[in-house]
Amino acid sequence: MFATRFAPSPTGYLHRGHAFSALTAHAAATAASGRFVLRIEDIDTTRSRPAFESAIYEDLAWLGLTWETPVRRQSEHLADYHAALAQLEAHGLVYRCFRTRREVAEAMASAPHGPMEVFRGGPLRSEEETARLAAGEPFAWRLSLDAAAAAVGGFDSLTFVEEGQGVIPARPELGGDVVLARRDVGVAYHLAVTVDDALQGITHVIRGRDLFEATHVQRLLQALLHLPEPTYRHHDLLLGPDGRRFAKRDRSETLRSLRERGMTPADLRKELGFG
Ligand code: GLU
Repeated sequence: MFATRFAPSPTGYLHRGHAFSALTAHAAATAASGRFVLRIEDIDTTRSRPAFESAIYEDLAWLGLTWETPVRRQSEHLADYHAALAQLEAHGLVYRCFRTRREVAEAMASAPHGPMEVFRGGPLRSEEETARLAAGEPFAWRLSLDAAAAAVGGFDSLTFVEEGQGVIPARPELGGDVVLARRDVGVAYHLAVTVDDALQGITHVIRGRDLFEATHVQRLLQALLHLPEPTYRHHDLLLGPDGRRFAKRDRSETLRSLRERGMTPADLRKELGFG
């Protein structure tokens, strides 16, 4: 059955861009008599706030949307992400990275064959790793692109389907050895999204063009974890009058401030092309 989702992070109030994205996904679900899933992506414990989460429900209801309940909150499902990570680890597809952000940047800048665009590393020698673990040093888990390429027989045959564009070659190497589990929360964006899209039976991932590159990485994770492959649709980003995309920093454009200024849901839906 057709199923799509809107997956905001409760790190700020929703703005017009979110409304456009949610309405786009919701309209697709309605047209296909399918499911519309709302997912709260709250693994970033330093930036997520309960108040932003309640505001998401309030703003989407104001917009006239309905969604399946119970809503999946990623912070309540860490065991699912840890299981996926353990699977990758068992196949030697991830490695522990003890570098700080700064050390990663330094390693990229001083790579032997010229600066690296994205980080590529590898596991430490086992004695050093054992010593660092024994010393209680924090580490992140990174995907090993080398190991992943070997596991899927090279990335040439890896593709995804973008609605309206057809089959697109996936280029996960553009993301480098991405972090799959952060040192603090034990999971990171790409892994949580990939696992959830599969667990929630999402057949169509509809989201903004800003996440197009993320799809290349997520497609690889699906292949490595033997998960089903959804179809993708990356919609254009809504631009403000200044030609820039809406962002959480544009406080005046949040749905609640539009509401306070007297805008009705019907006005906004019409303005966004869903009248
Ligand atoms: N939580 C992500 C965000 O708010 C969206 C993830 C996704 O749609 O895959 O940007």
